[in-house]
Amino acid sequence: MNEMSKEIIFSRAVIQKRVQEIADQISKDYVGSDLVVVGILRGAFIFMADLIRMMNIPCKVDFARVASYGAGAESFGKVVMTKDIETSIRGRDILIVEDIIDTGLTMQYLTGWLSERNPRSIKVCAFLDKRKKRKVSFHADYVGFTIDDGFVVGYGLDFDEKYRFLPDVYVIKQ
Ligand code: 5GP
Repeated sequence: MNEMSKEIIFSRAVIQKRVQEIADQISKDYVGSDLVVVGILRGAFIFMADLIRMMNIPCKVDFARVASYGAGAESFGKVVMTKDIETSIRGRDILIVEDIIDTGLTMQYLTGWLSERNPRSIKVCAFLDKRKKRKVSFHADYVGFTIDDGFVVGYGLDFDEKYRFLPDVYVIKQ
């Protein structure tokens, strides 16, 4: 299959600068907290690794995995948890780190799921936010960049398991 045509939208330099800004804000907001950072596999792994290394407060880490997209760009419109976290979160501050919020269904489901375990607080940090594409109302507490539309890859985000390793972010051109 031919390489898909794609156009760079956020360079690695721009990404690193923005991630540092978010990390500074999170470090201020969670001083003295018993913070658990929950990364959503697989897309958020690179963002989360950069983010926690740029923070200057300690945190625990765990991971969850949900399936909402198949091997392509189409959403199933249904969210299923395929890997739960293993850390006890009762009474702790939880920061969910997500690659991209699109319809909002994944984050609505996950925040509901984790809330039932009575954490002290739950906030969401998304690298990208497609705010105009929401099917349900959902507001992230920290957002790297807001984008309008288009399918993006790189910096952990894939298309059919390709392109995750790219250090910059691209939009796939049809
Ligand atoms: P939502 O439930 O908000 O519609 O979908 C969130 C999930 O859809 C993200 O975690 C991500 O896996 C996937 N997704 C949504 N838009 C994109 C995109 O432009 N590129 C990639 N690679 N994944 C996307």
